[in-house]
Amino acid sequence: AAAAAALGPPPRIRVVVRKRPQNRKEVQKNEHDIVSMESQTGHLTVHEPKIKVDMTKYVEQQEFAFDDVLQEDIDQDTVYMTTVYPLVQSIFSKAKATCFAYGQTGSGKTYTMQPLPIRAAQDMIDILQYPEHSHMRLWVSYFEIYGGKVFDLLNKRKKLCMREDGRGNVCIVGLVEHEVSSMADVQGLIESGSLVRSTGSTGANSESSRSHSILQMSVKELPKEVSRAQQIAARHTGEQPKSGRLVGKFSFIDLAGSERGADTYDNDRQTRIEGAEINKSLLALKECIRALDHDAKHVPFRGSKLTEVLRDSFVGNCFLVMIANISPSSGSCEHTLNTLRYADRVK
Ligand code: ADP
Ligand code: MG
Repeated sequence: AAAAAALGPPPRIRVVVRKRPQNRKEVQKNEHDIVSMESQTGHLTVHEPKIKVDMTKYVEQQEFAFDDVLQEDIDQDTVYMTTVYPLVQSIFSKAKATCFAYGQTGSGKTYTMQPLPIRAAQDMIDILQYPEHSHMRLWVSYFEIYGGKVFDLLNKRKKLCMREDGRGNVCIVGLVEHEVSSMADVQGLIESGSLVRSTGSTGANSESSRSHSILQMSVKELPKEVSRAQQIAARHTGEQPKSGRLVGKFSFIDLAGSERGADTYDNDRQTRIEGAEINKSLLALKECIRALDHDAKHVPFRGSKLTEVLRDSFVGNCFLVMIANISPSSGSCEHTLNTLRYADRVK
């Protein structure tokens, strides 16, 4: 299936499941691996342990099929080649591409997502060397959505507002963008931004599981001569005049822990509000992807900040790939099934 994805035009929506290896804790607790996958067909089976009223144990099998399934021994470069690589070229012909990592906290979203933009930067920089792209440059921004608000991870977590420009592109006012020319540049930005993300508001590491992080790599034309008057005008509207017109954009999204959406019943008021927000955004995301898949006239972007921010990535020439991350262990069975059902609905 990975080879097939590299041939011909890529499909608009792909859903791939990645299973991580069991960790030491799970092995110590004697949890067993309940997920089997068949790489050739994309079939996946969850062997759910159950107990009858009379206490006899049995296993219930739940079957799924996805565009691709990635076993626990798959390396990071294969993940890149299967998911992101087939979409990189499209950015230079004015497409918007988006890669999501979905799953419960601890399932491997960040592990999966972090190397993808770095690796993509390498290929994008190579493509930028072609003479026909000599007037284009690569730009990176990195922000998070937390509690329905946007924070700039490359500018001390500054709170920002969004609006749309005249061409239907989403613009986050004052968002810092860096021009990059190497994988190392991108790596440096991701590292500093990720540090801001995980230690953000309270210093607790678990905070990152309650936010969606969005890294965007934009290919932009070099600016035409910018007049002094335009520069002053731009300063008043908060626009950064230093880059030219957008060609295409690749967004890499490390979503909030899917189990956080269930925090809506938590006793703590703040946790409950955040849980409701996460629940709303993951539901809205699913509805927007489904609307796109069905070529629906109405796409429910207004359902959440996440989908509002991604609005321009869901219209016209656009591609989405979702990586649903799962734990293999019996102790995570319920969360795994929830993730697979979500991913199944997105297809
Ligand atoms: P999440 O972002 O979904 O909360 P993480 O990416 O932080 O989860 O992963 C949780 C832990 O599991 C980390 O220590 C990470 O290094 C490890 N891990 C996740 N996926 C894999 C994998 N495919 N191979 C090896 N270790 C992994
Ligand atoms: Mg994470």
